[in-house]
Amino acid sequence: MTLGRTPFLLLAALAAAAAAPSYAEDGADLVLQHGVFYPVQPPGRVEGSLAVRGGRIVYLGPDAGAERFRGPHTRVVDLAGRTVTPGLIDAHSHLRDLGRNLAEVDLTGAPTYDEVVRRVREAAARAPQGAWVFGNGWDQNRWPGKQFPSHEPLSAAVPDHPVWLNRVDGHAALVNARAMEILGIDASTKDPAGGRFLRDASGRPSGVLVDNAMHIADRLPGPSREENERWLRDGARQCLAVGLTTATDMGVDGDLIAAYQALRQTGELPLRAAVFVADNQPLLDEWFRRGPEIDPEARLTIRGVKMYADGALGSRGAALLEPYSDDPGNIGLLLTPGAHMEDVARRAVAAGFQVAIHAIGDRGALVALDAMEKALGGPRPEARFRLEHTQIVRVQDLERMARLGVIASMQPTHATSDMPWAGDRLGEGRLERAYAWRKVLNFGGRLALGSDFPVESPDPRLGIYAAVTRQDLAGNPPGGWLPGERLTREEALRGFTLDAAWSLFLEKEVGSLEVGKRADLVVFARDIMTVPEAEIPRVEVDMTVVDGKVVHERGRTP
Ligand SMILES: [Zn+2]
Repeated sequence: MTLGRTPFLLLAALAAAAAAPSYAEDGADLVLQHGVFYPVQPPGRVEGSLAVRGGRIVYLGPDAGAERFRGPHTRVVDLAGRTVTPGLIDAHSHLRDLGRNLAEVDLTGAPTYDEVVRRVREAAARAPQGAWVFGNGWDQNRWPGKQFPSHEPLSAAVPDHPVWLNRVDGHAALVNARAMEILGIDASTKDPAGGRFLRDASGRPSGVLVDNAMHIADRLPGPSREENERWLRDGARQCLAVGLTTATDMGVDGDLIAAYQALRQTGELPLRAAVFVADNQPLLDEWFRRGPEIDPEARLTIRGVKMYADGALGSRGAALLEPYSDDPGNIGLLLTPGAHMEDVARRAVAAGFQVAIHAIGDRGALVALDAMEKALGGPRPEARFRLEHTQIVRVQDLERMARLGVIASMQPTHATSDMPWAGDRLGEGRLERAYAWRKVLNFGGRLALGSDFPVESPDPRLGIYAAVTRQDLAGNPPGGWLPGERLTREEALRGFTLDAAWSLFLEKEVGSLEVGKRADLVVFARDIMTVPEAEIPRVEVDMTVVDGKVVHERGRTP
């Protein structure tokens, strides 16, 4: 329409129509009525209805006000008092690996090394002759003696298949003799920078590879496009079932990015994904040249870079300022030099990317924050730099993060998984700086919550529960571990919604139930904000909605 030839009266009529929209003709696509809504922004609680049209929220308020949005094609859902929150967002996760783990041997919860060997032997018996057997989730801290395993029992039980078993935190792997043969690991193999091959008394590799030593597997062929796409679809399905509408993939290679882009093109990405590019020179050169991928529909966001300052606490690879209390000669591993992190951070900012640095130990965090501060040149919250995990961080560095606007990306279930042995690693004196969510908020910092799935369960109900109780699922320890760090339920919900969205540049699109935002939301069977704390993990997810479309309903497969 050319405005110059439009009669004035028609323009006036159009203006009036815009001022008082009428949905009588076709109505909203979806109306949720008789519900209890926690919009997050503004904080509080709204009883009534929410209407969605064209994938966006067009109304939230009393039931009577929603009547005008009812049309002949409107799906009306009577919530009968059920509870609605914004769609939950996992700010740090590994979506592809979640799907991939379904296809591999699950070693989580194995109470002994014998049990690990048993599960792997069973899987190997079903695998094609000579094929690799992959597994995930072993944790020697659950076994009697808590010692790292040695490959011999595994090699004796599974002599013909090469075996690769990731530790629960992904920062160590156990391989058998056949795998060492294929990978060329023997007594003469040198430890790489930022990694080590654990050895027995005679210097022979024990089969445990820590941190950068795991890169020896880079010489094996990676997954196919078809496998990556299948694992992404499987991972997404698991997320939607627990109320996650946005997931992340921290540190991905070019092949996996191509799989994301293919699914995005064909409309097979049923949730939002934010992808952080791995610290790999040619890949970063390519992305810094072409700039971030900002999807107008916010389905696939590629505008972050992931780096590693150090390893993990469970495998004693986290870099500490003082030695481990239970390993006095060891201060952990710095995986990336500070100068490199600073250089990548500078280039990232110039190219419009954010930076996310994995830092678990206080020395890892110190080096990462020094690099970030130099690259930022001072407080710059709009750059959305993120410190991943923020597990053991000196109190003055937590304060520095708040001042610089560096987001604390934290995973509440890590704290409750690690609490039985974190004190052994750190000693009582260092615990004030451990998993200190409350201190982050008290300094005015921003907390983006997640799970690091598949390291932990993707279920955000477990994250909210851990954040507000700092207890395991049995309610231990009574009163919570370091209970001064507990969050309120409102703070935990904000960390899994609006502030997680902020940490991904998505806060204008999602993260709260506000008119104009995309309609990503979760319907819970009971009020997750008021049920007794012990009930939080069991509040059923009845419905998950992305862009106004119901993508999961309990008891049905849409
Ligand atoms: Zn991770």
